[in-house]
Amino acid sequence: MPITTEDVLRWITQAAQVFHEQRDYLTQLDAPIGDADHGVNMDRGFRAVLDKLPSLSGMDIGSILKTVGTTLVSTVGGASGPLYGTAFLRAGMVTAGKHELDEADVIEMLQAALDGIKARGKAHTGEKTMVDALEPALAAARKAQEQHESLAVLLRRAAEAAEEGMKATIPMLATKGRASYLGERSIGHQDPGATSSWLLLKTLAEVAD
Ligand code: ADP
Ligand code: MG
Ligand code: MG
Repeated sequence: MPITTEDVLRWITQAAQVFHEQRDYLTQLDAPIGDADHGVNMDRGFRAVLDKLPSLSGMDIGSILKTVGTTLVSTVGGASGPLYGTAFLRAGMVTAGKHELDEADVIEMLQAALDGIKARGKAHTGEKTMVDALEPALAAARKAQEQHESLAVLLRRAAEAAEEGMKATIPMLATKGRASYLGERSIGHQDPGATSSWLLLKTLAEVAD
């Protein structure tokens, strides 16, 4: 079963709910290695996205994702605003005009989002950022596609890999973003951005199930 325009709208709606519920958790993760605002930032951004939902009906998936991107850029602030904003804008570019996404489309979308974050943040794997959740998620999605798994399975594997990647940020030394200011003291804490990336993919997997 492909991902439809309605699925994408449900994804955005549920993500907004998840970020509202997990606001304090994400903010607490950001306290020891950042400035304790990641949950507040994501909640503010996705609340603004929710406000745009009525204007999104009838749009193609690319236009929806681009609107999410511009809304996040203008409302989230901090490092994560431009990073997630770029991710959704790039995802919207490769899905322009589409009303359905198959396995290959979803992989192209995830690749575009990851490439956008890496370019914008100049980040690579192992630097204790959202890249550490998204990069393994994409690899797991590609592997599932090679094994001819369904889109639902592909997205579940991607979300599981993102969760593993998120947990793997705990022992990492941060070399990007605010957490890098702490040097060695960044070790032993889970990265908030990797956690929000996992939540986004988990929500997408739930919608596709
Ligand atoms: P800020 O650090 O400006 O307060 P947030 O708290 O909203 O912004 O987001 C912090 C998250 O952004 C980090 O946990 C990390 O995952 C991500 N991040 C920060 N800098 C970069 C970067 N250069 N590349 C990729 N991700 C980054
Ligand atoms: Mg912060
Ligand atoms: Mg901040």
